[in-house]
Amino acid sequence: MTRYSWQFLILMISASFSFTMLYGKPFKTDINYYELNLELVRSIICLFMMFYIAHIRSCNRIYFWLITGCSCLFFGNNMNILDEIAIFEESYYQEVEDLLSNTGIICAWIGVYKLIQQQIIRTKTLDYEANTDPLTGLLNRRSFNQMANIHEKSEENSYLMLDIDYFKQINDTYGHSAGDSVLTQVAQCIRQCLRKEDRVARWGGEEFLIEINNCNIDTARIIAEKIRVLIENCHFNVGKHILHITVSIGIANVSAKNQNPDEVINLADKSLYQAKHLGRNRVVSADELAQ
Ligand code: GH3
Ligand code: MG
Ligand code: MG
Repeated sequence: MTRYSWQFLILMISASFSFTMLYGKPFKTDINYYELNLELVRSIICLFMMFYIAHIRSCNRIYFWLITGCSCLFFGNNMNILDEIAIFEESYYQEVEDLLSNTGIICAWIGVYKLIQQQIIRTKTLDYEANTDPLTGLLNRRSFNQMANIHEKSEENSYLMLDIDYFKQINDTYGHSAGDSVLTQVAQCIRQCLRKEDRVARWGGEEFLIEINNCNIDTARIIAEKIRVLIENCHFNVGKHILHITVSIGIANVSAKNQNPDEVINLADKSLYQAKHLGRNRVVSADELAQ
């Protein structure tokens, strides 16, 4: 079976049908060429569509409706053309022609409807995949950056940069999939401590960035401590093992001096570096850096 086998079959049936029907029939002397040209154009469009939809052959159900629709329309239209050039006395001719055209339109519409439905689902899925980290289900860096630009003018946002301490050791000791499981569970712990409107992204390998809207640095510190303590006391189930881990968190917030989210995120990163430097498993805020 070639890609266009159905289309060629319809063409052959239609051609044989036309020759059989025309055989011995008297031709009209007053052919309406305007109508005839219109019918020809319609037939060419149907033919083109019939071949063009072969591109979506893999979508079986949609393809079925569209190819049935186009074939019926093409066939019905060809009968119309014959009707324009020859005189048919068969009583059923007009009825078959109408039946084919109507069936064709209904099938084509069902096909188009299903195609649009599929497109809507695909767009949503692609959108989700483009914006989400596949491991943790959190936002990825790209979508976080896009949203940060939207929230640029928000009053007082705090940013928390969180990094798992000695994460490489987990990978080295228990394997990469154990590391993956810890990352997923840490993501859940973080989400647990936040409101719906706060945003978390997986910023890098074992680094997470949290944006808390309308939150000053003191409240941000309380939330960061809550996350740190929750993770410190959490039992991470990894296969047969139960692991205990800690995290370090750097905080910075958007202030009058510092309006650009990129600069604030940089500052949170510096604070995180300081938390690591001071021995890990702690929270350091940007105002402590300046001191
Ligand atoms: P520190 O306390 O200084 O942060 O030390 P660390 O070991 O956590 O940091 P380091 O940067 O040395 O190692 C990070 C590791 O994270 C290295 C990398 O293999 C691992 N990693 C990055 N992405 C993933 C991932 O998606 N899954 C797993 N399992 N490991 C990852
Ligand atoms: Mg780390
Ligand atoms: Mg890191």
